[in-house]
Amino acid sequence: MFYIGCHLSVAKGFAAMGKTAESIGANVFQFFTRNPRGGSAKAIDSDDAAKLLEISDNLGFGKLLAHAPYTLNACAANGDTRQFAFDTMADDLKRMEYFPHNYYNFHPGSHVGQGIETGIEKIADVLNGILTESQTTTVLLETMAGKGSEVGGKFEELRAIINRVELSNKVGVCLDTCHVFDAGYDIVNDLDGVLKRFDDVIGLQWLKAVHLNDSKNPLGSHKDRHEKIGQGFIGADAIKRIITHPSLKNLPFYLETPNELDGYAKEIQLLKSWREKKTPPPRYCQRGGE
Ligand code: FE
Ligand code: FE
Ligand code: ZN
Repeated sequence: MFYIGCHLSVAKGFAAMGKTAESIGANVFQFFTRNPRGGSAKAIDSDDAAKLLEISDNLGFGKLLAHAPYTLNACAANGDTRQFAFDTMADDLKRMEYFPHNYYNFHPGSHVGQGIETGIEKIADVLNGILTESQTTTVLLETMAGKGSEVGGKFEELRAIINRVELSNKVGVCLDTCHVFDAGYDIVNDLDGVLKRFDDVIGLQWLKAVHLNDSKNPLGSHKDRHEKIGQGFIGADAIKRIITHPSLKNLPFYLETPNELDGYAKEIQLLKSWREKKTPPPRYCQRGGE
């Protein structure tokens, strides 16, 4: 099964996202748990949540991917900022239990001059504070572009965080194709090598989801600016190899490309055609009515 979808707006509620996903040919999607810049979240309407689960069940959707506000910094130097990240993520995880057994993705953080080691320790501490034995959600650490003092631009950093997490069965990794490329991993010319590296350092069994984006900038630029599929420095051929790679093809793919809904619908259709390889059987094999 090819699980493909995109980031959707949560503004009209959960069931509405399910319907939107269906309308654009998606069978997975991502959404922000609250305003992406942080702040309070409105109470979850349990009827609306239940409706989404029903839609998702009926249509055979893959994993829902909730994305934490990207301004959270679990390794902030400022105590209040870090506490805010802690409280927000803990609250998000409670809310995620309305949607059991799905994914919650977050940006590990920026060490803002405290050093990578301190960053890694603080992020692991936050995870150790918020993860619970009873939660059904898997928390995904996103691979980052290594912009500024971002933690998570190197596979080793994600491994070091996971090593310090007590309930490590509750965490995983989300690979963002734009971010890893911008971080210097050459998924265009050496996808096998990059995945081997991921496997050696983190372990491919930790990889749970892919953010599928092209990049506006070249390899190693540390910029993190997403581009439409096939229109950036990663390009169509590399993206074809990514979505059909044996180590990746069973994972859910979420587009975060600069598109409106119609643009997403087109990209999803294009990606599906790349997956199917479009080789119709010869005419004489076709049976009437099939
Ligand atoms: Fe992200
Ligand atoms: Fe991403
Ligand atoms: Zn990004």
